[in-house]
This record gives sequence, C-alpha cells and structure tokens, in this order.
Amino acid sequence: MVLASECDCEGNCPRCSVSLLLKEKGPKTVYSGDLKSQDPEVVPYNDTIPLMKLKEGEEVELIAIAQLGKGLEHAKWQPTTACAYKYYPQITIDTEKCEACGLCASECPRGVYEFDEKKNLIKVVDLENCSMCKTCVRGCTTDSITVEGEEGKYIFRIETDGSLPPEEVLKRACDILSDKSNEIIEFFK
Ligand SMILES: [Zn+2]
Repeated sequence: MVLASECDCEGNCPRCSVSLLLKEKGPKTVYSGDLKSQDPEVVPYNDTIPLMKLKEGEEVELIAIAQLGKGLEHAKWQPTTACAYKYYPQITIDTEKCEACGLCASECPRGVYEFDEKKNLIKVVDLENCSMCKTCVRGCTTDSITVEGEEGKYIFRIETDGSLPPEEVLKRACDILSDKSNEIIEFFK
C-alpha cells in the first residue's frame, strides 16, 4: 500500500486504499468490528468501538475507505497522543558540604531522594523522575545540591493512540527524516 499523497490516482484506487464494507440491520449496536475489510491486514485497531445504534426497521449500508497518510498532512493520521522530551537530569551532591538534614528528600515533590536516617545519608533513588524544578536546591540550607540537564542526553516520551507501537512510530519518523535529508543531499548534488 502506498501513501495516499504519493499515489497517481485522483481520490482512491486499490494501490492506495482499502475498502471496508458495513451492512447491518437493526435493532443492534454497530461496532467497528462489524466493518468487513477487503484486506485482512487492514482492520480496525479495536473491534469494540460503538459506531451507531440502529432501532427496529433501521439499517445501514456503506463503504468506508482506509488510506495511509502522515500526521503532517492531517491529524487523523497522527499515531501519537503525546510526544515530549526533556533533558536528562544530573544531580550532584557535594558530600563535603552536605549535613544530611534530609530537607531535600522531604521537599522534593517527585520522590527523587531518599533519606537514610540510620546511615545519615541522602541518596538519589529516582533520577529520571526529576523535573528539574530545583525545589531541593532552594530547600538545601548548606547549598550543596546542583541540578542540571545533561548536555546531549534526553528523555523522550512517546504515547501512542494504540494504532502503532511507540518503537514503530519512532522508527518510521526517523525513516521520514532520513528520506528528507537524502532529498536535500540529492538537491545539492
Ligand atoms: Zn491511488
């Protein structure tokens, strides 16, 4: 199947589209799973999405067209519901200055630190959960904590709508970027 935007046809053809037939009679609730696809590889992601409720004597008959596209063209092709990155946090505790008062652990709203009262020790236990709000830095009375973003290292989060696994989304996005870079290289040649 080719991308709809890259097909030579006007509208839709078997190269760029798959038809899904829906023919149901009431009374019943019609679900996404009732759509009969012409291609077993192209089916609704979830069979249990209610589409409509038909009363006695009502019926529906339609052909739905599925096409492949990119989120850049239309939001309906966007496979993610959220995508964000942040610097990888870097926390340094100056053990010379630190008096292990435990304030940083109690002030931190995200449970990044743990205060071991027996050993009188502050430990970073959940570094990736740090949002770099620096509440710990402000709370520290001995000025012994530094919170920074690590240069060149990021935490990248992808949340998908379930149509594609996040690894696949990332891989395809990289493929698109790589193709675009190649186009620029070819252009300069
Ligand atoms: Zn076509």
